[in-house]
Amino acid sequence: MASSPPGDDVCDYLVVGSGPGGGTVAARLAEAGWHVVLLEAGGDPRELAGRDAPVPGGNRLPDDYDVPGFHPFASENDALSWHFFVHHYPQLAQRERDPAYRAEWDGRKVDGVLYPRSSCLGGCSAHNALIFIAPPDADWDDLARSTGDKSWCAARMARYLAQVERCRHRWLWALLAMIGIARTGHGWRGWLQTEKALPRESLDDGELVSAMANSALAALGAKRGWWQRLKVLLRSFGDPNDRSVLASAAEGLFYTPLSTRRHVRNGTRERLCEVADRHPHHLDIRLNCLATRVLLDENNRATGVEYREGVNQYRAHRHPETQHEVRQVRARREVILSGGTFNTPQLLMLSGIGPAEELRHLDIGPRVDLPGVGRNLQDRYEIGVVNRIDAPTWPSLRDATFERGDKPWRQWKRWGGGMYSSNGAALCVAAKSAQVHDGLPDLFVMSLLAPFTGYYPGYSRAIAEHRNRLTWAILKAHTRNRAGRVSLRSKDPTEPPLIDFRYFDPADDPAERDLKAVVEGIHRARRLAQPLFKCGILAAEEVPGPACQTDAELEQFVRDHAWGHHACGTCAIGARDDGFVLASDFRVHGTAGLRVVDASIFPRIPGYFIASAVYMAAEKAADVIIADAMD
Ligand SMILES: Cc1cc2nc3c(=O)[nH]c(=O)nc-3n(C[C@H](O)[C@H](O)[C@H](O)COP(=O)(O)OP(=O)(O)OC[C@H]3O[C@@H](n4cnc5c(N)ncnc54)[C@H](O)[C@@H]3O)c2cc1C
Repeated sequence: MASSPPGDDVCDYLVVGSGPGGGTVAARLAEAGWHVVLLEAGGDPRELAGRDAPVPGGNRLPDDYDVPGFHPFASENDALSWHFFVHHYPQLAQRERDPAYRAEWDGRKVDGVLYPRSSCLGGCSAHNALIFIAPPDADWDDLARSTGDKSWCAARMARYLAQVERCRHRWLWALLAMIGIARTGHGWRGWLQTEKALPRESLDDGELVSAMANSALAALGAKRGWWQRLKVLLRSFGDPNDRSVLASAAEGLFYTPLSTRRHVRNGTRERLCEVADRHPHHLDIRLNCLATRVLLDENNRATGVEYREGVNQYRAHRHPETQHEVRQVRARREVILSGGTFNTPQLLMLSGIGPAEELRHLDIGPRVDLPGVGRNLQDRYEIGVVNRIDAPTWPSLRDATFERGDKPWRQWKRWGGGMYSSNGAALCVAAKSAQVHDGLPDLFVMSLLAPFTGYYPGYSRAIAEHRNRLTWAILKAHTRNRAGRVSLRSKDPTEPPLIDFRYFDPADDPAERDLKAVVEGIHRARRLAQPLFKCGILAAEEVPGPACQTDAELEQFVRDHAWGHHACGTCAIGARDDGFVLASDFRVHGTAGLRVVDASIFPRIPGYFIASAVYMAAEKAADVIIADAMD
């Protein structure tokens, strides 16, 4: 270990983390002419690529990164990943009921359920399932109300969607928009391209097409509200980001827009590389740099960051390393933390910003007593209903081995088509459960041509090996649970924090309405599958399985199997006196020159898929920071 002399490395803005939050804000600040240093703990997925690469997982790159259909492999690729193991419940006995629970993994004690995170240039935009669905207007209006800051209202946030997005899945409307006829709310000239994948091969698969058509009819033809749903479908053409859908938070049938550019993944990695090419003197991206502490002066003004330069420094990495150099970089203007929902609160606490009493116990000198840091951890609840067909594989997946060079890979490579141009999602239905509390649809049911029952080590292999399954993935949005928490285990910056979601905590949801809503989701998924059983396409339900029928049985099943992957809220915006961490302009209470811009900022979990909300909030953050700099 060596150290650089402090104080000789200075920039205007220092950003920690290159995901949808940090990548977006760093790019904007550099474009505005400021000198930005971006510290990212991981490497560049493309530089890690190579069949003979010594990096474990490198032999599957860049395909795991590029190919939409390979996203499960990206999320388990050791070259890109931080493998967190989290608690869904405080009680060990309940934790152990989950088949995804592991006491040990890879020779180490982990005591939890795998929660994949990407640590590389692009953050989780490098491995996520690419779904880009913006939150309904009501979520932004709610944030504006709760913070008393009107700049968060939907009418003001809509422009950030347009600023981010380069929509390429509604061509005709793009033309009509140019001559001022159509108003879809889409952005046509942003930096994140969105597309629709409709692999032609799936249309040749008669069984699959009729399966989806039957389910679509089942979804539309439910007794109540079928006309309303049909109207939404006709008006929006199945586009969940259409202005009319976001404004009315409509129920209905939708396709899933993906963040791809000519059917290759794009995210903040591409954004940052483009800006660094255009403004090499303004954007300095430093890879393999793990920030370990925010440097604060005597007035609690952030003046810089201390970091460890070296590969795989964090122990959530499968192959952690210890060789590193300790360095410091100073920020003339501000430090912006964007390490994500688990790491930003960790970094704040390591810097003495958090619950003072707990920090003292860990021998960390408290600088700002902010008990809300790490609290308010939220996620969605998800569950899978898995069906099997009576054949070894869906015809459209016959040639799929999920390896470079197989037939679908060649189709994707040649013209961006084939089954791998899709992330696997076929039909999507947004619906209101009987438990809905704010009038917004709270169930999102997606059919996937794969077995998917959540995250556990090796889950991506199971997807490749079982090509005759259909999963209805049920996602419960607008969950009530705020009881989750991220806390430090020690003052060692390389040790992952304790992540305790406290699912279905009775304090937040005494009537168990979230649990009941997920059970309703299972009933709905079973109804969607019924016509497919009737016409003999589906052979059997494997999960939860025929033995699980009563509501009580299903509730226990949900408790034992639910998972989530949109964690947020651990440095939420709100009043300091109410236990929140950030002012509505992203500043950390009790400090100066320090902001947070990532998924941790949301007091309530927004929309169905969170990445779009993070991109939009980060664009807003850039506007706020640039405006403040002009004052
Ligand atoms: C498997 C999976 C699939 C998903 N699919 C979707 C989807 O289809 N659609 C959707 O909307 N959302 C999806 N999500 C969620 C979404 O991708 C994330 O919520 C989003 O990326 C969060 O953005 P962020 O900026 O908060 O942080 P992140 O994306 O987590 O990025 C944080 C970055 O900061 C770096 N970092 C952390 N700590 C430090 C430090 N101390 N020093 C330096 N660098 C640091 C990390 O290495 C990482 O690169 C998915 C998530 C998972 C896990």
